[in-house]
Amino acid sequence: MTNSVKTSQENFYRYGVAASPGISIGEVFLLDRQRVSVVEYIIAENEVEQQIEKFEAAVEQAKQQLHDVQKTLSLTSRSEHFYIIDTQLLILGDQMLLDSTKSFIRDNHLNAQGALKRVLEKFRQTFDSIEDEYLRERGSDIELVGERILRNLRGKIQQSVHDLDRKSVIVAHDLSPADTLQLDKVIVDGCSGCVIFNPCHDTLTTYREKQQRYQQYQEQLHEYCELPAQTLDGKKVKLKANIEFPEEAELAIHNGATGIGLLRTEFMYMARQQPPSEDDQFNEYRRIIQQVDPHPVTIRTLDIGGDKFVANICLNDEANPAMGLRSIRLSLREQKLFRIQLRAILRASALGPVRLLLPMISGVAEVHSCKAILNEVMAELRSEGIAFDEKIAVGIMIETPSAVLLADLLAKEVDFFSVGSNDLIQYCLVVDRGNEHVAYLYEPLHPAILRALNCVARAAQDAGIPACICGEMASEPIFSALLLAMGYSELSMNSSGISQVKKLLQQWHSENGDQLLEQILQLATATEVSELVSAKVKYYFPHLQNEGSFGI
Ligand code: PEP
Ligand code: MG
Repeated sequence: MTNSVKTSQENFYRYGVAASPGISIGEVFLLDRQRVSVVEYIIAENEVEQQIEKFEAAVEQAKQQLHDVQKTLSLTSRSEHFYIIDTQLLILGDQMLLDSTKSFIRDNHLNAQGALKRVLEKFRQTFDSIEDEYLRERGSDIELVGERILRNLRGKIQQSVHDLDRKSVIVAHDLSPADTLQLDKVIVDGCSGCVIFNPCHDTLTTYREKQQRYQQYQEQLHEYCELPAQTLDGKKVKLKANIEFPEEAELAIHNGATGIGLLRTEFMYMARQQPPSEDDQFNEYRRIIQQVDPHPVTIRTLDIGGDKFVANICLNDEANPAMGLRSIRLSLREQKLFRIQLRAILRASALGPVRLLLPMISGVAEVHSCKAILNEVMAELRSEGIAFDEKIAVGIMIETPSAVLLADLLAKEVDFFSVGSNDLIQYCLVVDRGNEHVAYLYEPLHPAILRALNCVARAAQDAGIPACICGEMASEPIFSALLLAMGYSELSMNSSGISQVKKLLQQWHSENGDQLLEQILQLATATEVSELVSAKVKYYFPHLQNEGSFGI
């Protein structure tokens, strides 16, 4: 959050980076994950048994809390999450932890909280000194369980989002408790990135109306889901969905997507003790392919590092992770993981149309390395008699400046390009995509970005391969018209944006886009481009000014 402006006793505005459109109004639920402070003191001999009983009761209470959480899990999320909770329940039954704490109370005459804290410290030291990375990480499970028992000993309420019984805005991590605890109600305007704390009556009324209009607009837009994605003069484009979880596939199709343009596979590595096995991955891919059938699914190999982390792969502590051992670089280093994923993707390709997408490619040599490994994996599957699509399309993400500069050479190596504009903007303009202090410099309409996008589309066209785009840019309707003019034949986006893009295209003549593109490629600054684009939107769509975003 940046730039806070306090306008009155009420209506405390703060601005941040808009991440997801929509308006939410609700009471604040602060998810306080702060460490429990421990009160430590010496006890008399006659208090020992009482403290031990207190400790045992806190352990039993922790078990009950975890069983309660298990009961709230939906059937679909059960297997993975049960595993995590089962691990914690096992720790709660661990005699080492229980006996050590009780002995500490007895031998050192320390109260239960103090004794448990000391025992946890010892455990932490032991785990920190373990060489095996995986086992070392397990120390954090014990800490979590320890925190739970400590909270119970302190009589603190364990917060859970399941306790919510009304519409609430969950605030976690970034705002300090002091900022938020005294707040009653908050408005989050995801379209503008504005958060208003303690809104006054008038502001609340205005936003309730705005929220209602937004909902009505979304409902109207839904009518466009079924319509073809084409311009007034019949120029077609494929609109696909970016998804992060299998559960989103059905909704994507419902929202009018004709396939998955980007399946981020990082989800499979989250909330697990170990990286997913080949079969685990294959089963997830199968689920998605079946839901999307007969449309294609574009599966991107693991893209972690930079701003993306998963619990079970320990990344190096790097000074500059955005430029470090991330994404495809990590896959090429950790080949065992990469080969498992390629096997799973290839096996899935026998079940329906699948495309393989390699992220964060920065040069031709990297593509050669990936293809050599892919060929070896294919040979392995053939020798095992396992079916896969021999002609599987292999594409690369274009999201580094070097890939843009080498687009003509890269185009000869692969079957399709998919531009990751989120990263491309960050790396071309040297603006960390998650840093609110430089968010004003993150400009999709920067002339350097427009030229880069245009150059990639040209290279793809010359080589006769499809140019796709799967960054957020694709979901801004007017940008989609420009991308179409550049020659992008497939736009992939969060599926909630599909109907809005269809709506604009249905009212747009592709010649208007060609002219606009020619003009903006001559401009020198993002402001000039933005002004011209806004003027065109006003000119072509005067009736749309008060409707939704249309992006500018
Ligand atoms: C991108 O960089 O534009 C992209 C689609 O990939 P991600 O957002 O997952 O990095
Ligand atoms: Mg990216």
